[in-house]
Amino acid sequence: NTFDDLGLAEPLRLAVKAEKYTTPTPIQTKAIPAILDGGDLLAVADTGSGKTAAFSLPLLHRLAADRGPRTPGAPRALILAPTRELAAQIGESIDAYGRGLKLRSTIISGGVGYGQQFKALKGNVDILVATPGRLLELMTRSRIRLDRVSMLVLDEADRMLDMGFVREVRKIAAACPKQRQTLLFSATMPPPIATLAKELLHDALRIDV
Ligand code: AMP
Repeated sequence: NTFDDLGLAEPLRLAVKAEKYTTPTPIQTKAIPAILDGGDLLAVADTGSGKTAAFSLPLLHRLAADRGPRTPGAPRALILAPTRELAAQIGESIDAYGRGLKLRSTIISGGVGYGQQFKALKGNVDILVATPGRLLELMTRSRIRLDRVSMLVLDEADRMLDMGFVREVRKIAAACPKQRQTLLFSATMPPPIATLAKELLHDALRIDV
């Protein structure tokens, strides 16, 4: 049970070593190969389980492996998080794990001026990390393109729903292509999350840790 057995590309295995992670956590052992295979995933996992690396490492691997032409202003992966603090943490993890890869990420969240975020979205962006409220605001104000999103991640989905973001999450998911990989992480699985998962995921593998 090592990171070398999970199928990740070498730059990511090196990044994991640089972070001094020796052994994958249970969610990483289960989720990483499944995500690399391209399937949808429903994971019941709390903060501290290593869930961020569980989705970020295979997401970076898949984006780096897909060498097709990029469209400026059109991210290929979208990660939704409930708060700007969590979005910032995810952005930092993505930067740390992806430092050996030529991928660009940007964060869209409340509490920051619009101009800077508009500008960041005009260039090449592979990975967009966003809070649902601010992203939907920007979508209605301008033309944020989500039509190239091949991977959609909902992190802490129960908290996003608790914060009243269900309408935003549905609208954002509807703006992404139907043909995509969707990963949903939640600490709890109350009926509204199960309903959302049924709507957004297809033949998802379920992992409980
Ligand atoms: P998370 O559950 O994503 O919030 O991660 C919790 C903490 O665990 C973070 O500080 C990570 O850097 C750390 N972490 C993630 N995966 C591992 C691992 N395999 N070994 C040691 N620490 C890890």
